[in-house]
Amino acid sequence: MPLSNGKPVCINHPKIQMGRIPDYYAITKVDKIGDKVNFNLGTGIPLVVFTCPECGYLELYPAVKFNDWHEGRIFVKCKSCASDFLSPIQLDKSSFESANLNNNSFQCPKCNKANSYDKEDMHFK
Ligand SMILES: [Zn+2]
Ligand SMILES: [Zn+2]
Repeated sequence: MPLSNGKPVCINHPKIQMGRIPDYYAITKVDKIGDKVNFNLGTGIPLVVFTCPECGYLELYPAVKFNDWHEGRIFVKCKSCASDFLSPIQLDKSSFESANLNNNSFQCPKCNKANSYDKEDMHFK
């Protein structure tokens, strides 16, 4: 619940910073007509999800409150199969400009090959 320096900490472990689960998730809209409930999978609230590494407690925030929802996230083009995958390193655009990101070994989730990547192999999308 509480934010410490802008990062959520666990409600059960107030000293432990929660980690973000990659990608976006959603709360699905529910339409209720009389006593009938329909889960409307086409509509909902996009979310960013955090979890406590100790107890697994989950916390949800609207994705629109995060820079990466607007700026895009860092993707890497696989040197083996040429598919784009989400970089394990995520920074906002201004931190990315000034960061030194050479010789990172990432494994492609599609072909499972690990390669070394530099900043010029990374792009926002
Ligand atoms: Zn916890
Ligand atoms: Zn690949």
